[in-house]
Parts: sequence; structure tokens; C-alpha cells
Amino acid sequence: MSAYETVIGLEVHIQLNTKAKAFGPEKNEFNLSPNENISPVTLALPGTLPVGNIAHLEKAVKLGLALGCQINEYNYFDRKNYFYPDLPKGYQITQDGRPVCVGGKVTFPTGDGEKTIRIHHIHMEEDAGKSSHDQSDNYSLIDYNRAGTPLLELVTEPDFRSGQEVHDFMAYMQKVVQYLDVSDGNMEEGSIRCDCNISVRPMGQEQYGERREVKNVNSKRFAKTAVEYESAVQIKMLERGEVIHKTTMLFDPEKGETRPMRKKETENDYRYFPEPDLAPILLSPEKIAQIGATIDYLPDTLKTTLINDHQLASHHAEILTEEKSYGVDYISLSQNVNNKKELADLVVLKLLPEAKEKGISITKVLTQSQIAELIDLISAGKISKSAAYQNLLPELLTNQNESVAKLAASLNLLTSENQDFVDAIIDKIMADFPDKVKEYKSGKKGLIGFFVGQVVKEAGGKADPKLVNEKVLKALL
Ligand code: ADP
Ligand code: MG
Repeated sequence: MSAYETVIGLEVHIQLNTKAKAFGPEKNEFNLSPNENISPVTLALPGTLPVGNIAHLEKAVKLGLALGCQINEYNYFDRKNYFYPDLPKGYQITQDGRPVCVGGKVTFPTGDGEKTIRIHHIHMEEDAGKSSHDQSDNYSLIDYNRAGTPLLELVTEPDFRSGQEVHDFMAYMQKVVQYLDVSDGNMEEGSIRCDCNISVRPMGQEQYGERREVKNVNSKRFAKTAVEYESAVQIKMLERGEVIHKTTMLFDPEKGETRPMRKKETENDYRYFPEPDLAPILLSPEKIAQIGATIDYLPDTLKTTLINDHQLASHHAEILTEEKSYGVDYISLSQNVNNKKELADLVVLKLLPEAKEKGISITKVLTQSQIAELIDLISAGKISKSAAYQNLLPELLTNQNESVAKLAASLNLLTSENQDFVDAIIDKIMADFPDKVKEYKSGKKGLIGFFVGQVVKEAGGKADPKLVNEKVLKALL
């Protein structure tokens, strides 16, 4: 065991999926041609004034309520002043003195169990533009499309102890923001990014070590690598007797390494003060409750609902909560179907993989009535499950409008009404495998499956496996 402990606190930036930017009139879109989507407000041209976006506030409150934060009914925006070419106003509108959400915690799955970390606060702010320094040695290019797009920043307490925990937390947050529909949660496109504050301390020491902050990590895998790399470097520094200074670091994804960017600014450098062009925000308890009522499912509550109210096995519930729509679609399908177990199998084993492959929703793979009809046939033993899955489904998928029973009949897949022919097949199988019959009779009861399999195979899908099972049992008495 290492003699040191790693301590990590995160500042997570979440790009919101509002229609408009945070303070200007233009669309919240930036994957367009450079500088196509910027208004005079975003550029802070003389005479323009920012206007708050109610959706920005609502999404902040929604996330805060979902994570058990306290909502500040009174909160306001501040200006954070600094000079950087991709910041057109020369300041960023953010919340410093009184953020919209404080406290709260997140419990997420990690390793074999769960971990709970505390939230310090969540605040609203705007994003900056994007600079490209790699086009020329003589100049940089700036795209302001992203400037002014709405962000939330979630700041955690320093409660993480490993890169793996940070990775698993980011994966969980990605799901949460998608479930709440506050963000598309697409990490590859930068919709969730985090700054990782990392320090190390001798095992057993209460006081935290000095931290270094790795900026702008945009994948959960990179976050894990950055934490592990930085922690190893810091431990080596301490072992050599060096002092760790508060430093801002960059992560190089190609090398998997961190390197110093600048000495961290002190708080005062930003000259925070209340934004004079935006009135403070007053949220009524009714408005907060109204926003809370729009929260339907989180990953955990959907899973519990599927298990408790819809009798799903835990591994099925796990798969059906990978995305909220899977579970919600399952619940809507299950209204029309009695045999929940067969439905769960059909959805998890067949409809979901098909939906993923085609990039459509589960409910679009087959019609509701086709699904109900198919489950009825399987439940009634009119088609064997293997014939239904292997032979009927592929045909159904290419013949969307067919009646399930008609198609099954035309493919000769339905088990016969009259199952008397099965008796002759059973006699034949018994005669073909006298040794197995002897073994069965001397106690190897597990062979029942073998006999049923042989009979069903011989019957070419016409036999009802449940009935065959009964008949074989009798024949072997
Ligand atoms: P700043 O205002 O300089 O950004 P904060 O106190 O707001 O500093 O903390 C920013 C982040 O750094 C938080 O996520 C916090 O949990 C984390 N943090 C603070 N101290 C430490 C430390 N010693 N080691 C690791 N993370 C830390
Ligand atoms: Mg900070």
C-alpha cells in the first residue's frame, strides 16, 4: 500500500442544451462556420445590455434539486475580470458571491460499491470563445461562436481519492444531465469537462497537501490518467523533499502527461464584483417547486421502478437504464403486455440491440400491437421462443406491416393445434437413445433437457416445448 493518499476536488463544467445563449439573443449553437453566430451583446459592443435566460436558471435549479442542493432563492451574477483574446467582453459573467445552488451530494457506483461525494455549490456562467494557436506561427485565430453559451459549474468538495473514482463520477454525471435533459452530456464534444484539483498527503495526515489544478479535461479516461499521473509526480516530489506550489497544469492527452501552464492566479486578480447590468435573481418557493416537478427519473429511481413496479430482474433493469428512453419505452410497452418476463427478454435481447443498430427508439422497431401479438404467441406456446427469435423476428423486421400470426403461419413456424404427432416422435427418440434412457432412470434427471431438445428438433418447430416436456416426463416414468 502506498504511503500517500491522493485527494481530488473537481470543477465540472456542463454545457446546457438551452435554445438561446445565456445573455444574448442568438442560438445556442457553435458547431457552425467560425464567427457566424455572434450578436452585438456577446461582443459587448457599446450600448448593448445582457438579458438573463430563464432556461439557464431553470436547468441550474433542476440539476441542483436532483442532487439535493439547497437553492438560494436570492442569487446574483458577478463579473470575473481577466484579459484573454477569446473573452470578447474582457470579463466573464459568472456567479461568485451567491451561487444558485449550494451543498448537496452525489452517490455514484464505483468499483464493487458506491461512493458519496459532497457538492460545494453549482453556479451559472457563460462560456468563452475558442482560440486556435496551431494554424500559424505568426497569429492565432479566434472563433466567438461559443462565447456566451450557458454553462453550469459544479464544484465538489475534495472528496475523491483516486482517478477511478473521478472517472466513475464523470460517467455518472453524464447520465444524470442526460436524464434531466439539461445537457446532451456528450463528453467527446466538450459538453462536460472538468478541472481536476489534485494533492497528495502522507497516509493518516489530516491536513490536505498543496494542490495543482489540471485544466479542461474533456474525457473521463483522460481525467483518470491525469489524476494518476499528477499524483505519481507529486509523490515523487515530496519524496525528494521538494515543495509543491499551487500551479495550473495542462494535460497532454497524447502523452498522458501533465505540465505546468502558469502559477495560479490569486482570487483578487479577477476583481469580482456584482454584475451591474443584470438584476439579482429572486426565485419564489413556488417556482422552485414547479421546476422540481419536472424531474421524472434519475438513473437510480428508474432502476428501482423497473425492479419494484415492473418485476424486472436487476441485470435487465441495469441495461434498460443505460439511457432513460430505454426504461421509459419499456414501461410504455409493458402497459399492453401481460407476460412481463417475456417482454423483458424480447426488449433486452432483441429490440434494444436492433434499435441501437438502427439509431431509433425501441418503440419504433416493431409496432405496439406486433409486440403484444408476438408475446401472446410465445406465452401461449403457439410458437417456440427459439423459432420466434431466430426465424420469425428477422422476417418481421423486414415486413413491418405484417400480422405476426399470419407471417408465422406462412413461414410454417406455428406449433400444431393437434400435438398427438409428438407421441410418435417421443417413441422414436426413446428407441434411438436406449443408454440415455437407462441413465435417466438410474437418477440422471438432468437428461430431461436433452430428450426435450431432441424431440423439438425432430418436430421441426411444430411441437410446443412445454407440452413436450410433460409428455417426455410421462414417457420416462
Ligand atoms: P479556487 O477558488 O482557487 O478555485 P476552491 O477552494 O474554490 O479554490 O476549490 C476549488 C476546487 O479545489 C474544489 O473542487 C475543491 O474541492 C478543490 N480543492 C481544494 N483544496 C484541495 C486540495 N488540497 N486537494 C485537492 N483538491 C482541493
Ligand atoms: Mg476555481
